[in-house]
Formats: sequence, structure tokens, C-alpha cells
Amino acid sequence: MPSNRCQHIFNPDSDLEHRCGSPALRAETHCYYHHPSRKPSVTRHARRGFPILLPKDSTSLQYSLLQVIDKLAANQIDVHRAGLLLYSIQLASKNIF
Ligand SMILES: [Zn+2]
Repeated sequence: MPSNRCQHIFNPDSDLEHRCGSPALRAETHCYYHHPSRKPSVTRHARRGFPILLPKDSTSLQYSLLQVIDKLAANQIDVHRAGLLLYSIQLASKNIF
């Protein structure tokens, strides 16, 4: 029997598994949030954060900028957080030069 409820299963490898149960998209098996074609805007890794090298010279400054740009380009960090990090790097760079 076809279901019009999302078939996504939370915690599939544990005893706490349960289905999403939200209304599925028309003629689909998943809701908007769990549809396979949807990419999350912020990954679990980004929510945990990532170690950032505090810039102490021009080389480490460049590396710190590249870390943020790389995460932003890969959509692994939200724009607001990236803006705060870039501003922090800018402040730190004023103490270097
Ligand atoms: Zn769902």
C-alpha cells in the first residue's frame, strides 16, 4: 500500500529508530527535508565547527582565509559564521602587519 508519508528513518542502526512521518512530496517517498536530491545547507561537521589556525604571519593568514573560503565554497559552513570568521581573521591580520 503506497504511503503519502515520508519514509526517512531516523537512527536506523539503533533501537531508537523511527520514521519521519511528515507528508511526502507528491509522487515521492520522502518529504521536502529528506528528499535525496536535497543537500543540507550546513553539514553536521560544520555544526561541530572546525579547528582554525590563528594567523601569526602572512602564510598562516593565507591558510586561515583558505580554510574559510574552502568551507564556504563547499557549502559546509553558513554564510553568517563565515562572515564572523573572516572578520576575526581581518582583525587578527591588523595585529600582524
Ligand atoms: Zn521526512
